[in-house]
Amino acid sequence: MPPARPLLCGFTRDALVGALAELGETRAYRATQLMEWIWKKRASDFEQMTNLPPALRHGLAERYSLCPLAVVDHSQSATGRTRKLLCRIQDDELVEMVLIPAAVGDAGTQSTRLTLCVSSQVGCAFGCKFCASGLHGLKRNLTTGEIIGQIFAAEREAGERVDNLVFMGMGEPLANTENLLPALRLITDPHALALSPRHITVSTSGNVPGLLKLANSGIPVRLAVSLHGATDEVRSRIMPVNRRWPLAELIPALETWQASSKHKITLEYILISGVNNAPQHAQELVSLAQRLRAKVNLIPYNPVQGLDWQRPSEDACRSFCRTLLSHHIPTTLRYEKGLDINAACGQLRLRHTS
Ligand code: SAH
Ligand code: SF4
Repeated sequence: MPPARPLLCGFTRDALVGALAELGETRAYRATQLMEWIWKKRASDFEQMTNLPPALRHGLAERYSLCPLAVVDHSQSATGRTRKLLCRIQDDELVEMVLIPAAVGDAGTQSTRLTLCVSSQVGCAFGCKFCASGLHGLKRNLTTGEIIGQIFAAEREAGERVDNLVFMGMGEPLANTENLLPALRLITDPHALALSPRHITVSTSGNVPGLLKLANSGIPVRLAVSLHGATDEVRSRIMPVNRRWPLAELIPALETWQASSKHKITLEYILISGVNNAPQHAQELVSLAQRLRAKVNLIPYNPVQGLDWQRPSEDACRSFCRTLLSHHIPTTLRYEKGLDINAACGQLRLRHTS
């Protein structure tokens, strides 16, 4: 395979200035024009860039790429309009995204139109026992351009712009801060993608050093933590990451985050039958959520082919939820809209690679 061409959607303005200079173009307004084509007009072909001289367009096309991702499969849930997209990236690896249209709120309001769930890595090294993404380990990190390229590919599929972004696809975003942080800077840059940081959520399974790097970056995104257990005993049983960074390290890091963020942390909690859904587990979760002043998202486990974990009955899930609500923890019980399309992370790719 020929070496992959760098993706311009991952370039900062300075990097674009450098790329243009290598092609003999040193006028500053050319970088502004190029940024407008990439970010504002979402150009998918250098030939569209009609205000750039043809020689410059050709020079760019020979060295760089605009459009890295080809959607190779998509499945639509029968119930909702949730759509799962499988994309092929430059070296033929596959990544997953999920498009989620806005839910209309109680008062008929909606704060977003289209949410996109993106991947941050091909596979995942963290190997949570219930998760399809971690089954075959980590293949590689996504580059900054590939992280951002998912947004452009999804928008082309959807025919509209994404205005809410969640890093809850494949991979552990905070194990790839090297490429995640530059991507977040471009996504929130008013001269680039210009998405409001409050419409971006990064989800982590508890990568403490990554969390501190994200906090130090000062990018005011929202944080979700895949907790799934409020004690080391439960977490270590299903999440090997907890042995590396147990709650005694994770909780102080979350308190540091919480103290400097305007938003509540969201604790994601998959309900797995016989593992973490007993009344005592609910009480433990209440204590931790109170300590962190966090909100909780309960997600009944989405069974994965080849894994033995089961989701609890609907009654059991509702009763767990009631315990949290009775202690005034802001809680949602989210039956995955895309259950029939393997919407939980890593499952569509699993179908293609196994
Ligand atoms: N690695 C990060 C980002 C991925 S988010 C993290 O773990 O937070 C993907 C979310 O889907 C995580 O909360 C994960 O725990 C959850 N998940 C994985 N497999 C699932 C399944 N089979 N059913 C329901 N949720 C699942
Ligand atoms: Fe990785 Fe998150 Fe899946 Fe765990 S849940 S294996 S951290 S993607």
